[in-house]
Amino acid sequence: MASANNPYLLLTPGPLTTTRSVKEAMLKDWCTWDEEYNLLVTSIRDRLTALASAIRPNDFTAVLMQGSGSFSIEAALGTALPREGGKLAVAVNGAYGERMALMAEVLGIQATVVRFDEREAVNPHLFEQALMADPDITHAAVVHCETTTGILNPLPELAEVVKRQGKVFIVDAMSSFGGIPLDMAELGIDFLISSSNKCIQGVPGFGFVIARKDAIAACRGNARSLSLDLYDQWDTMERQNGKWRYTSPTHAVRAFDQALKELEAEGGIAARHARYSRNQRTLTAGMEEAGFPALLPKEWQSPIITSFRYPNSAFSFPLFYKSLKEAGFVLYPGKLTSEPTFRIGSIGDVYEDDMLRLVDIIQSGGMARYNVQ
Ligand SMILES: *Cc1c(COP(=O)(O)O)cnc(C)c1O
Repeated sequence: MASANNPYLLLTPGPLTTTRSVKEAMLKDWCTWDEEYNLLVTSIRDRLTALASAIRPNDFTAVLMQGSGSFSIEAALGTALPREGGKLAVAVNGAYGERMALMAEVLGIQATVVRFDEREAVNPHLFEQALMADPDITHAAVVHCETTTGILNPLPELAEVVKRQGKVFIVDAMSSFGGIPLDMAELGIDFLISSSNKCIQGVPGFGFVIARKDAIAACRGNARSLSLDLYDQWDTMERQNGKWRYTSPTHAVRAFDQALKELEAEGGIAARHARYSRNQRTLTAGMEEAGFPALLPKEWQSPIITSFRYPNSAFSFPLFYKSLKEAGFVLYPGKLTSEPTFRIGSIGDVYEDDMLRLVDIIQSGGMARYNVQ
C-alpha cells in the first residue's frame, strides 16, 4: 500500500512494491562471513529448490549471484555452454530473448536465433524445426514470461520439444518464478534463472540460478568470466556452506529471506498466482472499460504484466504517467517497436483493491486530460 514512507505503488515488473516487513529486514548492518549468515544462505538455497520442484527437489541446487537478473542469465549461459563444441538456440519474441542472443554474441557462444513476432507466443513446432535443422545445437534457451509484452510462452510444450530433441534446457523465468507454478523436474529444465526483486517480492541486489545438480557439476572450466563463473560460485557455496565469492548483498539477502517467509505465509506459489491473476483480470476489465484495449489475446496473456494500446492518437503517455504518479501509481512505458503501448504490472505487494482504485482514478477524471493540448 502507498503510505507516508511509500509515496506510490510500483506497478512495474521489478523492482516492485514490497511489504514493510521486507524493507525492515534491512535495518541493520548485517555481516557477511559468519556461520549464522551462511546458514541463512543455505536455507534460502534449499527453499528455492523446494519451490522449483515439488516432485524431486533433491535433483536441483540453487546458486545465488550478485547483480541484477541479467548478470545471472549471463553467468548461466557463459557457464552452461562448453567452450568448444557447444551451440545455443534462442527463441526470441521480445527484448529479453533478444538480450540472451546478444549475450551469446558478446560471450563468443555460437548461436542460432529463432525469431517470432513480438506480439505472438513462441511457436513450439517452429522452434522444434529449428532444433532439428541444426545437429550442432546443444542447448536451447527460452523466456517464460516475455516481460516486453506480458506474453506467457507455452513452457510445457516448449519443454516437450527441447527434451525430445535432447538439448540442455535453459529458461529465463525471471518475471514468472514464484508467481506461476512450475516443476523443473516434470518439465526437464536444466537451468532456470530468476532474481530477488520479482515475484518472490524481495528487493533488487542479486539473481539466482536453479540448476540440475549433474548439469552444473559438468560445467567446471566453461566460464568466460571470473566474476560470473556460475560453477565456481556454486562450488564455493557447496563446499563452504553458503559462502559467496566476493562481497554478498547482505541486506538484499535478509530481505529475501523475509520475502520467502511471506510467500509461504500467503499460501505458496499457487496462492500468489491466484492473487496476481485476480489483479490482472480486474485491471484489464477496468482499463478496457476506460478505453485502453489490452494488446494480447487472453490465451497468451500472463498474470504478470499487461500491455495496453493507446486509446486515441492524441493520448500522451507522459501526461498520463505524471498524473497517475501524483495519484500514487507508477506505471511502465511500452517496449514494443511496432506500436505505441504502455504496461501495468500486477505483481508485488499489490491487491485487487489497488487495481480498483487505479482504474477508478483513470475513469473518473475524463480521458481528455491525458491528451496533448
Ligand atoms: C527483469 C527481467 C530480466 C532481468 O532484468 P534485470 O534488469 O537485469 O534484472 C530478464 N528477463 C526477464 C524476462 C525479465 O523480466
